[in-house]
Amino acid sequence: MTVLVDKAKCIGCGACVAECPLEALSLVDDLAVVDPNKCDNLGKCVIICPTNALSLPDLPVGSKTEQKPEAGAAFKVQEPLPENIKDYAADKEKNAAAAKAAPQTAEDTWSGVWIIIEYNNGKIAPVSWELLGEGRKLADTLGCGLCGVITGCDVNNVIDEAFCYGAEKVYVIDDPVLKDFRTEPYTEAICSLVTKYRPEIILMGATSMGRDVFPAVASKLKTGLTADCTVLGIDPEKKILQQTRPAFGGNIMATILCKNKRPQMATVRPRVMAMPERVEGRTGEIIREGFGFTEEDFFTKVIDFIPSDAKSAFLDKAEIIVSVGLGLAAKRNLEMVQELADVLGATMAGTRGAVEAGWLSHDQQVGQSGVTVRPKVYIAIGISGAIQHLVGMETSDFIIAINNDPEAAILKVANFGIVGDLFQIVPALTEEFKKRLQHGVED
Ligand SMILES: Cc1cc2nc3c(=O)[nH]c(=O)nc-3n(C[C@H](O)[C@H](O)[C@H](O)COP(=O)(O)OP(=O)(O)OC[C@H]3O[C@@H](n4cnc5c(N)ncnc54)[C@H](O)[C@@H]3O)c2cc1C
Repeated sequence: MTVLVDKAKCIGCGACVAECPLEALSLVDDLAVVDPNKCDNLGKCVIICPTNALSLPDLPVGSKTEQKPEAGAAFKVQEPLPENIKDYAADKEKNAAAAKAAPQTAEDTWSGVWIIIEYNNGKIAPVSWELLGEGRKLADTLGCGLCGVITGCDVNNVIDEAFCYGAEKVYVIDDPVLKDFRTEPYTEAICSLVTKYRPEIILMGATSMGRDVFPAVASKLKTGLTADCTVLGIDPEKKILQQTRPAFGGNIMATILCKNKRPQMATVRPRVMAMPERVEGRTGEIIREGFGFTEEDFFTKVIDFIPSDAKSAFLDKAEIIVSVGLGLAAKRNLEMVQELADVLGATMAGTRGAVEAGWLSHDQQVGQSGVTVRPKVYIAIGISGAIQHLVGMETSDFIIAINNDPEAAILKVANFGIVGDLFQIVPALTEEFKKRLQHGVED
């Protein structure tokens, strides 16, 4: 017998997967699944599960774990431990003692908000500017400077743009080795600047590059990192960064603090923060540093670039999105919605439900495990408005929702809610838009 999973209670948060030292749990279709060949009924997963979805089977007296742990009680693994199991509790105590013994970082020697400006293949990721806008607020609250960081090759035009979007100072490492993005050289470049200039907060976009390089930077600097934040703030008393992101499968928003280590690091999803105004002609201080590494110092080489034709490559930049959910009932009904999208010049997207049904590709999924969008208009058709979907679209400028359930959560975030049958409403909207756009009617 192994740990039992109550499927009705499991929210697919993955806490048990991370906790199990035997790697006996995995997530399949967002449900915890136990591998009977690995599970030894240690019970750590039972304690960590936030929804009490896991339980230990009733084991015969004398077996390794014969008593179920009380919820919240300290759990003791029986001695002696099998060779392949580490005593994590003992490890934790050791680490805490070591951390106390080590000299504490003097917080006041770390100052400034830094934004890592993503420049790759001749393109700047717009989230870098969104973060300069957000960084401005944080720096003003803390009363410190706002700086951009650019690592790459031939980056002078990027420096000028960083000033236009609000950086007061820009740190630059411009070196041919940094021409193409690779984790190791970029990690070295960012870490060398951080170690020398000691910023208090560093932020980067939760893009493919940010998700790749920032964990490596955090790990090298031995500090914390909160990935995929959707809200940032400053704790008014302690003056530390409040990093808010969806947690436990998006069912709660968690605010995470990095209390004892510096710098405080977070990645932020593109299009969540507003784009600041670009002010032509703004200037600031440029601080250039050498790189000090050669090509031979790194294992990876970029051989070729294969451009992606994935639809998501532009979904996050689309101005009008028509998005479908399971209310559409069948793939063949996409044609009806595509007609509306064509009339409006909109991009098609959808919920995870629609993707899992095989109606759309994963590139078109909006939400926590898909793309975050911020179009001018988001039309949600037959979408319930689960929190995992909302976090990916609720900052859209104008939301129109069509749903036959007046209680649907999507209607609570919509600027216009149309309660009714989408099969009547969508064709009627398409006809009306056709007429108005053909005749140039503006309202
Ligand atoms: C870890 C995790 C990550 C997730 N990530 C994402 C994600 O990135 N993106 C995402 O979208 N979801 C995600 N989900 C799934 C999410 O929880 C929801 O299950 C999903 O968003 C629901 O999709 P839906 O709105 O299409 O379907 P449903 O919830 O089934 O909603 C269908 C809606 O259509 C309406 N409807 C039905 N018929 C009609 C009709 N004829 N006319 C009008 N309205 C009608 C219904 O009233 C209902 O509101 C994630 C879940 C987990 C656990």
